[in-house]
Amino acid sequence: MLRTVITATAALGLAAGCAPDTSAPVKVSALVLNSNGEYAPQEVELRTITDIVGLKGTVADLHGGARIVLDPEDQDLATAETPESFAAALLKGEGHDVKASYIDQGGVLWPADFHTWNMVTTYYSLERAFDYFQNVGNIPAADFKKPVTTYYFPEFVLKQVDKNPMRDNALYFSVMEAFMVLPFDQLQRAPLAINAGIIAHEYSHRVFNLKVYNGAAFPQALSLWSATNPSPGANILKSFDEGLADYHAYGTTCRSTKGCDTRFLGTSFDGAYEQLAAARDLSVTNRCMTATLYNQLYGQGLDEFGQGGKEYQVGTLIASALYQAGENTGQREVLMRAVVAAYNDPDPQKPGLFQLSQQYLNNQSQFTLAVAAGAIISHVTDLRLKEAVCNELMDHLQIPRDSLVGTGNPHLCPASATPGTTCPVLNTRG
Ligand SMILES: [Zn+2]
Repeated sequence: MLRTVITATAALGLAAGCAPDTSAPVKVSALVLNSNGEYAPQEVELRTITDIVGLKGTVADLHGGARIVLDPEDQDLATAETPESFAAALLKGEGHDVKASYIDQGGVLWPADFHTWNMVTTYYSLERAFDYFQNVGNIPAADFKKPVTTYYFPEFVLKQVDKNPMRDNALYFSVMEAFMVLPFDQLQRAPLAINAGIIAHEYSHRVFNLKVYNGAAFPQALSLWSATNPSPGANILKSFDEGLADYHAYGTTCRSTKGCDTRFLGTSFDGAYEQLAAARDLSVTNRCMTATLYNQLYGQGLDEFGQGGKEYQVGTLIASALYQAGENTGQREVLMRAVVAAYNDPDPQKPGLFQLSQQYLNNQSQFTLAVAAGAIISHVTDLRLKEAVCNELMDHLQIPRDSLVGTGNPHLCPASATPGTTCPVLNTRG
């Protein structure tokens, strides 16, 4: 589909593009997933844009042509003393403001070249994710801080991994408080910039950072915990970050034209990458914590745990368990809101993930799956939903019942909660 669109826009591009002087809301055409599962031009409204040519608004600020290098041997990085100077040292080339070009067709701005299609669609997806967290997640607008710098097609080099710039990825880079949408190479069916679910996944990392890491460029608990081996607390934080990013990305798809899509990675990752999409499909009901994964979660350091993407495996267990609880009780958005509320809550009766990680800062072995799951459970008020969340998490993550139900303080799950029987019982503690 995208190829057709590119051809069509190349033809349109022959006409002179204009630089309209407009302010929000602006009607534009973006590439949106339609009910046939294809990305096609659709008229949408950008409600937060302040500069349609530079693609700046209150949600994001797109920036082109930057060069960002993370090299362990870089002296500028080694001598950086603050998060700000570290971020500045990473940026080897500042790049420039982007310049989108449009053709006005009856009050709707049509992107006049490929990159404008890509960039407008990226901004639109970021705005939809922001809207989800504001309205479903109930996060006040002021909490989102400044518009997020979004590096569009930067040269991003991770020297430890590859001397060449990375491709085919989109990421939230907390160190720079920025999104990156990297150039594509293999993933041409729907580049990640176009995939709204993937952009929402990255936006969710931003929100997780703002709330669970209190907006820190170098999150305290994660930095401290990952410096030791094993690092169960760090592994659990990472797993929640990934799993909940998929869960919220799914939530944003439910507000889109196509409707709820548990397999939103599938439109980008087809062919050889299809397994990746299938492995994270939230609707799979029989995913279980295995003894091996459990031992790795509690017994490995973060580097080793991250090899092979085990944080995604645990994350998918969390996300699909929550998915089932929300769908089976018909309370999808209620649960999504409770999950966001669980990120940061100073109430000692129901501490958030941030508060719990601070509480166990010097003893990460106390920050167990049960404790982290407990933050979510304590933010669910409806009894039937709470019971469903408890049952699914106990079953799929193999959290022992007595760590969630019982005489302990607080009573996280109701006495009526009993783990589902989808998964074989592991002999675990924690
Ligand atoms: Zn992620």
